[in-house]
Amino acid sequence: MKSAQAAQAVDGAVSVPSSQSVVEALVGWYVANARQLPWRQTGDPYAIWISETMLQQTRVETVIPYYNAFLKRFPTVFDLATATVEEVLRAWQGLGYYSRARNLQRAAIQVVAQYAGKIPDQAVALRSLPGIGAYTCGAIRSIAFGQVEAAVDGNVARVMARILGIRESLNQTGVGRRIAQTMMQWQSQAEAGTVTQALMELGATVCVPRGPECSCCPLDFICVARKEQAVTEIPALKKRPQPQPIDVFALWLVEENRIWLQKRPDTGLLAGQWQFPALEIAAVSEKPDGYDGGISTIRHSQPIESRNSKPVTAAVRLQTAFGHILWPENPQDGVPVVRERLAAVSPRNSFVEVLHVQHLFTHLRWRVQVVRPLSAHICTDLALRAGWVSVPLDSCAELGLATVYRRILARLYTSR
Ligand code: SF4
Repeated sequence: MKSAQAAQAVDGAVSVPSSQSVVEALVGWYVANARQLPWRQTGDPYAIWISETMLQQTRVETVIPYYNAFLKRFPTVFDLATATVEEVLRAWQGLGYYSRARNLQRAAIQVVAQYAGKIPDQAVALRSLPGIGAYTCGAIRSIAFGQVEAAVDGNVARVMARILGIRESLNQTGVGRRIAQTMMQWQSQAEAGTVTQALMELGATVCVPRGPECSCCPLDFICVARKEQAVTEIPALKKRPQPQPIDVFALWLVEENRIWLQKRPDTGLLAGQWQFPALEIAAVSEKPDGYDGGISTIRHSQPIESRNSKPVTAAVRLQTAFGHILWPENPQDGVPVVRERLAAVSPRNSFVEVLHVQHLFTHLRWRVQVVRPLSAHICTDLALRAGWVSVPLDSCAELGLATVYRRILARLYTSR
């Protein structure tokens, strides 16, 4: 329902239309054009919470199968609260940003313990749950409970900035409040959740970052950016810092169809996920493909913990970190290799490259070099003491292997 006629002409100029006419145009367009998404077929606050969490930083098409499978596996907040973290991470595997899954489960436990399994509808209670910030709180309250509360994600911020002609950075003081106030004014004139979803849908399908389809837009009659021919300038783009390159040296340790893996720490990047035993070293040099030809030639990297120390080769770092496990004096009794003997294992000849891949996070660029030690005799006792586990190659997927390592495994395992 296009409502250019809703704008009132006064002395030849176009005045600001009433918010009632804006909301009518927006909601009418949404009803006629909204995509049929699974979380739009439910009023269950739990399901809406799951969908809003999954949709953070993740595309709708990616989320749909995960959402369906997750709700099948954990149909209620009680099922989620009583699951193990490993089960939840497994259901989340491949979706990225795994802290979301951990927070969901912690929040589910809190909802069961404090609210008898009923998702709270009050902002203070919702915001006290792990992983629920202003946006998710606003989305749940408006969509699931019909309450007037702004939910400003990237799509909504872009649409509103263009409509209101906000040329300042979206981070600038007062901009967020102005957008939220306008949104809430609109929410108060219709079903709040429908207005929220209509703005999200408009941003996702019409008012896209590049090349918005203004001729199909139900709000073109009030859009300042369009009127001022400033659509490409609004919103002002934030300059994102380049992701920091990190050299990751990962050990490919496969024996008789079993592979050695290591669990990452419970906090930080990829918390609690499994990986190949690995070293992560902040790179000093920025090479085009992050790779200069071989394990023994990566001399320009420095360890994170000693940035001011002399550069050391990655092979020496790997020997220092893992040599006692890979080259024990006696693999049977677990006596670690003596320093002199380790020194005799030439760094240059101690590892061979198997594969190298790149993996991008928002703020980091991993340059992963997978290496295999030559002539190693892994000492099981020392490996277990270091927190490594040996698992059958074909059951890695059940463990919750980090995505980058799943990619590597798929390349190496199928090519064997
Ligand atoms: S008129 Fe164009 S720029 Fe303005 S809200 Fe609609 S799609 Fe976005």
